[in-house]
Parts: sequence; C-alpha cells; structure tokens
Amino acid sequence: MTLKIAIQKSGRLYDDSVKLLKECGIEFNNSLNKLKTEASNFPLEILFLRDDDIPQYVADKVADIGIVGENVVMEKQKDVRVLERLGFGKCRLSIAFPKGKKYQGINSLGGTRIATSYTHILTGFLKKNKINAEIHEISGSVEIAPGIGLADAICDLVSSGSTLFTNGLREVETIMKSEALLIGNPLLSKQEQAIVDKLIFRIQAVKKASKNKYILLNAPNKNLDKIISLIPGMKSPTILPLAQEGWSSVHSVLMEDVFWEVIEKLKTAGAQGILVVPIEKMIL
Ligand code: ATP
Ligand code: ZN
Repeated sequence: MTLKIAIQKSGRLYDDSVKLLKECGIEFNNSLNKLKTEASNFPLEILFLRDDDIPQYVADKVADIGIVGENVVMEKQKDVRVLERLGFGKCRLSIAFPKGKKYQGINSLGGTRIATSYTHILTGFLKKNKINAEIHEISGSVEIAPGIGLADAICDLVSSGSTLFTNGLREVETIMKSEALLIGNPLLSKQEQAIVDKLIFRIQAVKKASKNKYILLNAPNKNLDKIISLIPGMKSPTILPLAQEGWSSVHSVLMEDVFWEVIEKLKTAGAQGILVVPIEKMIL
C-alpha cells in the first residue's frame, strides 16, 4: 500500500514542499525532470505536477493528497478536503490599480476591465460587493496588462509588492490571504487514511519545532525564581546545579514570537551564557 502525493513540479512551492517532506524524515530522489518518484523509507509516491492541476488530480484520486496554494484550491472548486495548513507559500490575492489613476474605494472598480487568472474568486468578490466590472482572463504575466492597454486593473497574487511596483501598479484591495495547504481526496480508504495520519503527525511535529527554540542559560540561584517566571516554557524548565556554587543551568523551550522580548528580560534578571539552539522535531 503506497499513498500518492502531488507536489508542484517547479516554482514557488517546490522547494518548501520537498523540504517539508524531507524534514518529516521521508527520503526520496528529487532529481529534476522526474515525473514521479518513490520514497525509500515511507509508503509514499511523489508526483511532480503543475500546481493548477493538483486539485483536479486529487479530486480524481490520481493522487490521494497534494500540496498546493489555498488560492488555487479556492479558484478550482474541486472536491477536496483541507487536511493541514502548512505555513509556507504565503501571499495574498489582491486587486491592483495603476499608480497614476485615482482610486476612491471599491466603487472605483465599477465599469473597469480587470485582468486575472483567478476569474472564479474575482467574480465572487465583485458580486459580493455589487460591483459591475468586466473580467479578462489571462493565464500569465497579468501585471503587464494595464501597461499594454489590455485592462484598467489586475487581480493577482502579491507577496512583497515589488512586481506591482515595477509595473507602475499599487495594491488597492486584498481579496484573500493564502498559504500552502495539504489537501486530500475525501474518500480515502482506512489504510490510506492511516498513512495520511502518520504524515500529518510528522508535519505537525516539524511545524511546532520551527516555531520554537531550545534555550540554555546560567542563572545565579538568588534570581532563579525570577528567571524561571520569565520563561513561558513547555511545562517547567529543567534546572541543573553548576559546578560553580550558587549558580544553576536552566533549560527550556521558547516560542519564536516572544523570543527577543524574553531574552532581554532574562539578561536584565542576571542570566548569563545564554545559548539558543534550533529544535528539529517537537512532539507534545
Ligand atoms: P506552475 O508552473 O506549477 O503552474 P505557477 O507559475 O502557476 O506554476 P508559481 O508562481 O510557482 O506558480 O506559484 C505557485 C504558488 O505559490 C501560488 O499559487 C501561490 O500559492 C504561491 N505564492 C507565494 N507567493 C507568491 C507570489 N508572490 N506570487 C505568486 N505566487 C505566490
Ligand atoms: Zn500554475
């Protein structure tokens, strides 16, 4: 029994998809130009496909599961289930207007021609906001459409906004935020589901680990209570006596988002020799 997973063949999701599977301890040969490959130590076959095709293939069960952007899942409207949010491939689907053109809120979109490859999502957005605009479907290089007179505005993916900027456009409305998702066919067999569960368990361990750091520090015993109270750790920190009298070594796990703030407070409270170590996997 082997589960089939579809991932992007090349492009923005490829590297992170491969990295995630490898961090889950799944070994496979991903030399370029391969259409599919089998993992050597996990019951998984990996299919490399265009991202736009992944929802369809998963719905048809050519692949059992897949990694694809939420934007594509929303646009394609295929019968697939979202199994896990993966936290990479972050971007947003936005409407952009030429810099020199006045934009006074969403009604400025009325009567315009908007170029996009996301016709389904854009249609829904315009309908919800009761805007009458013409949608021009184009499949690539949407950002050049206003410059060549093909459209008045565009609806496309944005991350930093630099592509828009170099094309004389500015973001005026955000339609949706997106990240990579693990999707699955809704009708998996018991055995298939068991492999999916195993994979998701590993993905969650990798995701948790990437959000946390392991810290070790030396603390004078007289400030130990204060220092421990500053660490919002997993449970309670590990405390070991140092050879030097009056000092202890404190070990704990720290969330990335409170990291700098806590480190500063620890230093002020007398902590020394602070070591910060990445965590590879975290199973709670
Ligand atoms: P394919 O050849 O597989 O069809 P593509 O050109 O359609 O590739 P990419 O540009 O590689 O697609 O983007 C794949 C996905 O990466 C997008 O659907 C989106 O979910 C995500 N993504 C993240 N940031 C961005 C960005 N700045 N621009 C476009 N996509 C982004
Ligand atoms: Zn694509």
